[in-house]
Amino acid sequence: MTGRLGLFGGTFDPPHLGHTHIARAFADELDLDTVIFLPAGDPYHKAAPSTPAAHRLAMTQLAAQADPRFAVSDLDTVRGGTTYTADTVRIFRQHYPAAELWWLMGADSLAALHTWKDWPSIVRQTRIAAAARSGFALSALPSELHAWAAQALNDGSLHLLSAPLSDISSTDIRGRLKNGQHTGGLLDPAVAAYIRRHKLYGGSPENV
Ligand code: ATP
Repeated sequence: MTGRLGLFGGTFDPPHLGHTHIARAFADELDLDTVIFLPAGDPYHKAAPSTPAAHRLAMTQLAAQADPRFAVSDLDTVRGGTTYTADTVRIFRQHYPAAELWWLMGADSLAALHTWKDWPSIVRQTRIAAAARSGFALSALPSELHAWAAQALNDGSLHLLSAPLSDISSTDIRGRLKNGQHTGGLLDPAVAAYIRRHKLYGGSPENV
């Protein structure tokens, strides 16, 4: 592949319409040929997901049917051990040496990028695109990232998405499911059906 490839890592526990909304916006704004969703096995920078990787992968595959530019990779779930983005990016770089690679993320992830293992190697091997997220201004970066961000904005290797915010989070959805609240408008219907079928997140199925 020599085109423009977006890599969208996350726990996807569960994948929600905020994910597909920003993935579509990234694809439109950066003119990406493909956005590859990469559910993490055991993410390094987050608490271990409560849902087995096989379910998160299956739900992400259903969510990714929303757009022909979307694909899903099981690279990070089959690799085992802690998922380090630096490893994921290195593997994609080796597989697609001529592609223009973008790592896609929300502003909460961008604000914590300097805490990711080998983060300088990530930003050397891929461009970064970030979407605004409630509570996280794209402009309010920690001082550790200032020098890199200034340079990267200048040379085009950091792109701040101009698409409007989506308020949706997996944390909120898990809470709603547990408390028997509705999740209408937050989940793709196929993902909601999967959650019902597999009785995930401990709620009453009719509200999903
Ligand atoms: P949780 O609530 O469990 O932390 P999440 O909703 O943040 O989950 P993740 O799977 O961790 O979902 O997110 C994967 C990536 O998508 C992260 O970079 C995150 O910042 C980004 N993201 C998720 N939801 C949104 C959203 N509504 N707007 C912008 N970015 C988002």
